[in-house]
Order: sequence, then structure tokens, then C-alpha cells
Amino acid sequence: MCLFCKIIKKEIPAALAYEDNDVLAFYDINPQAPKHILVIPKKHIESLNTLVPEDSAVIANIYQVIPQIARTEGIAESGYRVVANTNRDAGQAVAHLHFHILGGRQMQWPPG
Ligand code: 5GP
Ligand code: ZN
Repeated sequence: MCLFCKIIKKEIPAALAYEDNDVLAFYDINPQAPKHILVIPKKHIESLNTLVPEDSAVIANIYQVIPQIARTEGIAESGYRVVANTNRDAGQAVAHLHFHILGGRQMQWPPG
């Protein structure tokens, strides 16, 4: 079972930011910004590359949840970045689809 599936099953602890039947959000263990939250589908999906049409509803849910979390964290107005690293060149380290919410500081563009 992958690391994030273990977090979903509460076999590995994580500080949760949000949970519903299909979506889990938790604070990144190695934050890259003052606010750094990971939002994941509870279904094991390896990456954006392996999405199938039946996953559309949960991805839509995730994009409803993201601004809710941003509001709760107080970064909705100041701004935040949503990142889904996909495969090697993007540095995807965990093969379970996850959306980073990063905020609380000025982001750089282009990203590194
Ligand atoms: P990726 O590099 O795959 O886009 O992002 C994986 C993220 O998962 C990294 O930001 C990393 O810090 C985070 N991470 C890895 N292991 C754990 C863990 O056990 N708990 C939490 N909360 N975050 C983790
Ligand atoms: Zn998984």
C-alpha cells in the first residue's frame, strides 16, 4: 500500500486539514511555505496521467475543497498556488495523486 493510502487508513498519522468520504487533506510534513497542505483523493490514483473519466467527480470535489481550505487557512485573499507534480521531471515523490496548496508567502515565477 502506498504512503498516502496508509495515511488515508490512519495507519500513519497526519495532521488533517479536511476530510470527507472521497477527499483527505493534511499538512505537508516538510512545508515549503508557511501554509502547505496536500489534498488527495481517497481512491488510489497514481498521477494525473492515470486519471480515468470516472475520476472526474472526485477531481471536481477536490477543486471545491481547495478554496475552502484556503479560506480556512487565511490565504484565499492573499493568494496561493496549487501544484500537482507529475512524474520524474516534476519531482513527484509519492505515486498517489496529490495537489499541493502553497501560500502565506510571495511565490516566484517561473517555478524552479
Ligand atoms: P511530491 O514531491 O510527490 O509532489 O510531494 C510529496 C509531498 O509529500 C512532499 O511535499 C513531502 O514533504 C510530503 N510527504 C512525504 N511523506 C509524508 C508524510 O509521511 N506525511 C506528510 N504529512 N507529508 C509527507
Ligand atoms: Zn495510494
